[in-house]
Amino acid sequence: MADRRGLLIILSSPSGAGKSTLARRLRAWDETIEFSVSATTRKRRAGETDGKDYHFYDEARFRDMVSKGEMLEHAHVFGHFYGSPAAPVKAAIRAGRDVLFDVDWQGEQQIRNSDLGRHALSIFILPPSIPELRRRLIARGQDSGDVILGRMAKSWDEISHWGAYDYVLINDDLDATEERLKTIVSAERLRREQQPGLQGHVRRLHSEFGEMT
Ligand code: ADP
Ligand code: 5GP
Repeated sequence: MADRRGLLIILSSPSGAGKSTLARRLRAWDETIEFSVSATTRKRRAGETDGKDYHFYDEARFRDMVSKGEMLEHAHVFGHFYGSPAAPVKAAIRAGRDVLFDVDWQGEQQIRNSDLGRHALSIFILPPSIPELRRRLIARGQDSGDVILGRMAKSWDEISHWGAYDYVLINDDLDATEERLKTIVSAERLRREQQPGLQGHVRRLHSEFGEMT
């Protein structure tokens, strides 16, 4: 058995608050953190790679996986289906590797209520202000004006779920937020339930204690 269990690190935020940027930085800090590549029925955007950013499935294939219980969680977001395939997550957690999820509040809720929920660590990223959120969506240059308006309209719905998360970070200064995120992950790895080897260690201490007295 690995001497530690992996964490399911869940990052959520309204679109544009900086979740993908922070996810990238966290994985650059520790390359052993796996990214849970979601499946989606939405179209691939320019610059996205199938199998790396998302698994781009048609609706029939997506529904088939859901009906076979092969998704850890799934949701309907912005008119499309999104879901996290369960098998790679289970293998990573058992082997002691952390898995990072970029999912919405529905995904957070379902992961927390799943069999692996006790290993979940959820972090919500808030923007410093709504004008700044809009500025970042525009600056990213990824979406048309209409799509940006749609994302802005949805952002309050996502923000309203902030209270369900273990941690909340206001992403004002990017470097400072990255440091806070790394601090959270470092501390959470030391949670008792993340260290299955502790029982054995304490048993050894106990027998050494007995030998001394
Ligand atoms: P999300 O994944 O939450 O939709 P992104 O990570 O794509 O958001 O960030 C949206 C835009 O805002 C990107 O252009 C990114 O470089 C920028 N950004 C992220 N965090 C900050 C920050 N703290 N300050 C300024 N710009 C930021
Ligand atoms: P986008 O289409 O911009 O990549 O993602 C849109 C939204 O879907 C984001 O809020 C993102 O967090 C969410 N999302 C992406 N993958 C999943 C997933 O597997 N499950 C859930 N519940 N949400 C997801």
